[in-house]
Formats: sequence, structure tokens, C-alpha cells
Amino acid sequence: MAAPDPSTAGARRPDGDADVIAVGAGPAGSTAAAYLARAGLDVLLLEKSRFPRAKVCGDGFTPRGMKQLIDLGIDCSENNGWVRNRGLRVRGGGVSLELDWPTLASFPDYGAVRPRKDFDELLVRHAEKSGARLQEDTTVTEALTDERTGRVVGVCGYVGKGRDRRPVSFRAPVTLACDGVSGRLALSLGMAKRDDRPMGVAVRRYYTSPRTNDDYLESHLELWDRRDPANPKLLPGYGWIFGMGDGTSNVGLGVLSTDRASGTTDYRALLKAWLDGTPQEWGYRDENAVGAVGGAGLPMGFNRTPHYRPGMLLVGDAGGMVNPFNGEGIAYAMESASIAARCAVQGLARSGASAEAAFAAYPARMSQALGGYYRIGNTFSKLIGNPAIMRVATRHGLPRRTLMAFLLKLLANLYDPKEGNASDRVITAMTRLAPDL
Ligand SMILES: Cc1cc2nc3c(=O)[nH]c(=O)nc-3n(C[C@H](O)[C@H](O)[C@H](O)COP(=O)(O)OP(=O)(O)OC[C@H]3O[C@@H](n4cnc5c(N)ncnc54)[C@H](O)[C@@H]3O)c2cc1C
Repeated sequence: MAAPDPSTAGARRPDGDADVIAVGAGPAGSTAAAYLARAGLDVLLLEKSRFPRAKVCGDGFTPRGMKQLIDLGIDCSENNGWVRNRGLRVRGGGVSLELDWPTLASFPDYGAVRPRKDFDELLVRHAEKSGARLQEDTTVTEALTDERTGRVVGVCGYVGKGRDRRPVSFRAPVTLACDGVSGRLALSLGMAKRDDRPMGVAVRRYYTSPRTNDDYLESHLELWDRRDPANPKLLPGYGWIFGMGDGTSNVGLGVLSTDRASGTTDYRALLKAWLDGTPQEWGYRDENAVGAVGGAGLPMGFNRTPHYRPGMLLVGDAGGMVNPFNGEGIAYAMESASIAARCAVQGLARSGASAEAAFAAYPARMSQALGGYYRIGNTFSKLIGNPAIMRVATRHGLPRRTLMAFLLKLLANLYDPKEGNASDRVITAMTRLAPDL
């Protein structure tokens, strides 16, 4: 579909400030805004910060993320600033294995890295070019609800900072909560995250390093907590080293925070302890650090539900969309955004019960897309929370290339449900057998 002229896109509604309000201009909000504006709707994209802005992330894209970008019409060539990679290098159990991204009908055979400061701006400008109206420096504090029906009819918050701060409110028939892991909009309606679903914590730092050019994303599956040298503990998570191609590496670790100690764990100290054990020549030492250590939560496996309540859809991290197998979130933020946009487009073209049926279909659509897979992922995250299982898996699993190639497909959610080979068929069968979430 051709992008409409932004100056004329979407006739303003008489009964509101926009057709759709999207709160948060990360990958979820910008993707949804672009799709909605292209469908001719008037989209108001509210963002608390101002672009370009940093976002703590590993900056890594698997082919699943690249597919979303291609679908959206983003130029993913290296000329456009993408540093592509061809697979995943897995280290652990004394073994290092390079696994190329699989050749599939559904996904490209390359991933990439790109700093989020740059990527998030690229995406939000794409949404603007598609016709969305971006309003920066606007912090949303809560959902506005209809007193009589409880339906979400808009949002309120404030624009600006300090003395210049002034209250604002906006109304629209449908609101997308794309405000990330904080989930402020959902929380304003009492929608807390679920304790029975996994949550992770990840920290990262940039270092100047001779390893900056790398054709593979690298993951370290054996992450030891050696802060008590007499009692080292194998952690449920992994470390990553992503060469950024600009003289630096993005180095970090993500750990499941299911165990009770997570509230007291010093993740920065853990990162340092891990990196101090890597070869000196890689350069991951304080003197080569660029900027501070940053960290945030990883809301996984649909850990905030329901994904719809009348008038509002939870998209991306706000709905706990991060893959519980590998902590990847950008692809899923974009995927849920495109599904949410389709439901909103349908709903806004109808009225009454038919409109509501289209909006309310969103959780079922998400469940069809990812529910079976995430159910297995949630079980997987419970298993790797057990150090004994982790130890056996790294020691005996890693040296087996065929098994690892299968696991790459499973962990990165890269398989062909229809056209694939034997391992694709096994994964498809597993996700179908697992009841949807
Ligand atoms: C250390 C770390 C490393 C990671 N590495 C990777 C990786 O390598 N690859 C990957 O795919 N995923 C990674 N992730 C996960 C990924 O960052 C997220 O899943 C992804 O950013 C989710 O996108 P989103 O649009 O849902 O939320 P966000 O990217 O968090 O965007 C939310 C937006 O909403 C805005 N906002 C928040 N609150 C408000 C408010 N009240 N009012 C207005 N605006 C608001 C924010 O400023 C932000 O712009 C990592 C996460 C962490 C913490």
C-alpha cells in the first residue's frame, strides 16, 4: 500500500483527538503507528522523551526481527547502516560452535546489529513519513475511562518538564499501550504483571574492542556467578557479545529472575565478574568501557494479560511479549504491533458490537501467533532455573551440532510451519500440542 500524504492523512474525528492513540514510540508504538497511518487512520503517537534517545538494549536482531522490518518497508541493506550477521556462535562447556541462520521460506537468512539510539529514531521517522503524528515530551500517566462503562476512551498526562509542565488529555476510540516494561498505562487500570510467568533482567555495556567486526552474534551459555569463589553458581541465563562494527562491542547478560535471590542480585557486579574472566585481549575491562552499565527488566511469555480490555490493547513489552527462550523482544514488539494494527483497522471501520468484536479478537490473534510456542518457552524457563538441568544441558548438549542446529531454530523461533524440514515439523508439532496461552 502506498504511503498517504502525511499532511492529509486521516480526517480528524469530530468526537476525539485521533482515531488511535499509541502511547510510547519504541518498536511497538512506531510500527503500529506506521501500519495504522498507512491504512488512512489518524494516529497520535505520544512519547515521553525526545528523539534521538538512548534505549538500553543488546542491539541484536535475529532474522525474525529482520522479517518484521522488511514487512514494514524498511531498507535493511548495509548501505542503510545495518551491520549484518550470518548466524549465532554459541560458547559453553569448553566448546564454540558457529551456527548459520537457517534457510527458510518465512525468514531471511541474516540478522543484524544496530544501536537502538539510531534504530528507534529510524522507525519513528518512518511512522511519521507514513502519516502518524508524533508528539514528544509527553508523559502519559493514566488511562481515561468512561465512568458509566469503564471503557478506555483516551489518556491523560503532562507535556514538558519542571515549571513548563502542563497537564494534557487526549481522546480516541482505541488506545494502544506501547509504553514498554513499565506498563504505566496498564498499571493505571490495575493490570499488574503476572507472577506465574517468567521475568528476566538484562544489563549491558559498550566496550571498545578488537572484536568489533564479527559475522556472528555470540552467546555464552555458561554464566557463572563467582562472587563467592568457594561456591560458584551456574546462572539461568546467558551472556552476549555483539560486535557493533564501529570499534565497540555491546556486551551484556540476561538472567531469569525467577529465583528468590533476584531482588538482591547485583547484576552489574555479575557482568563485571563474567567479563573479568574473558581473555584480556578482547578488551572487556573498565578502562575500555564506553558509557555506563545500563539494565532493565525483560517481561516474557505474555506476563501481562489480558491483552485487551475494552478500548485498549497491550502491545510489545507492555503485554510481556519477550520470547522466554532467548530474551529477544524487538521482533515480538513489532509482530504484536502489526497484529494490533490489523484489529484496530477492522474495528474502526465498523460500529457497535461488530467493532468491539474486531478489537477484542486481538488476544486470540496473539495467542494463535505465539501462544503455543510461549507455553513451551515458559516451561523451558522453569527448567533452566534448575542449575542441575542447566549443567547437564551445557555439558552434554553443546558438543552435538545437529542438536544445537535444532535448538537454534527452537530458541530463536525460526522455523517454517508449512514448508520446512524434519526439525521444523517437530517444532510445529510441539507448538500445536502445547495449548495456547
Ligand atoms: C539489556 C537489554 C538487552 C536487550 N537486548 C535485546 C536484543 O539484543 N534484541 C532484542 O530483540 N531485544 C532485546 N531486548 C528487549 C527489547 O529491548 C524490548 O523487548 C523492546 O525494546 C520492546 O519494545 P517496546 O516498543 O515494547 O518497548 P520500548 O522499546 O521500551 O519502548 C517504549 C517506549 O515508550 C516510552 N514510554 C514509556 N512510558 C511512557 C509514558 N508513560 N508516556 C509516554 N511514553 C512512554 C518510552 O520512552 C519508549 O520510547 C533487550 C532488553 C534489555 C533490557
